Amino acid sequence: MLEFKNVTKKYSDGTTAVKDLNLKVDTGEFVCFIGPSGCGKTTTMKMVNRLIDITEGSILVDDKDIKEQDAVELRRSMGYVIQQIGLMPHMTIKENIVLVGTLLQWPKERKDERARELLKLVNMPEDYLDKYPHELSGGQQQRIGVLRALAVNPPLILMDEPFGALDPITRDSLQEEFKKLQKELNKTIIFVTHDMDEALKLADRVVIMRDGEIVQADTPENIVRHP
Ligand code: ADP
Ligand code: ADP
Repeated sequence: MLEFKNVTKKYSDGTTAVKDLNLKVDTGEFVCFIGPSGCGKTTTMKMVNRLIDITEGSILVDDKDIKEQDAVELRRSMGYVIQQIGLMPHMTIKENIVLVGTLLQWPKERKDERARELLKLVNMPEDYLDKYPHELSGGQQQRIGVLRALAVNPPLILMDEPFGALDPITRDSLQEEFKKLQKELNKTIIFVTHDMDEALKLADRVVIMRDGEIVQADTPENIVRHP
């Protein structure tokens, strides 16, 4: 599904943020990247959806080099959820959820139906569709951010500390909810966190990074057994 081949990122100021990264992620696998701030997690995610260029090496999605694909199309083919979800404040929740559908010129009925269907996944009442982001709690807004990434049903979802800004209780319940959701959806997920508990709780495989390099990649059980 997703493969990193000798991937290196050097920023223009000389910082090497990622060094010779090699990793294969299977379809349907939930992989957590974990490591201290500055170890290269966000840089890795940004390379996958081509927000930044790869300096050396290549990233393949379904055996195709992402460099050879149209960047806009590539971005639309994967969901991306970040900590600062950035819902559009002047758009309703419905319009926010199906934002990419609007870009793809989906007809109104299709957007309405998809928005309703998605909201059900997180057990929020339908009347939320007509509300605006500021009328929702932080946890609810973050749920909408996740739904927005699922809207066009992409096989691959990138999540960069999606629950990082939430209070511990909301965060716990969102983690539970998301783990259940993942079992139903069977998406390939790359999830970035600096919280080991979160990684162990959610992931099929935990990838530990330090100074731009992978130091360990294993199942949660083995990580706990051989730290
Ligand atoms: P690239 O080499 O990918 O084009 P740049 O070095 O041009 O990246 O930086 C892109 C943006 O990131 C710039 O707006 C820059 O100000 C900002 N930036 C520079 N250094 C850092 C840093 N250490 N951490 C986060 N952002 C940074
Ligand atoms: P993490 O997500 O693990 O906190 P990042 O990928 O944001 O790490 O950053 C990795 C390294 O690259 C850090 O040393 C950071 O300061 C540096 N960095 C990030 N963005 C830029 C940029 N645009 N320009 C220069 N250096 C950057």
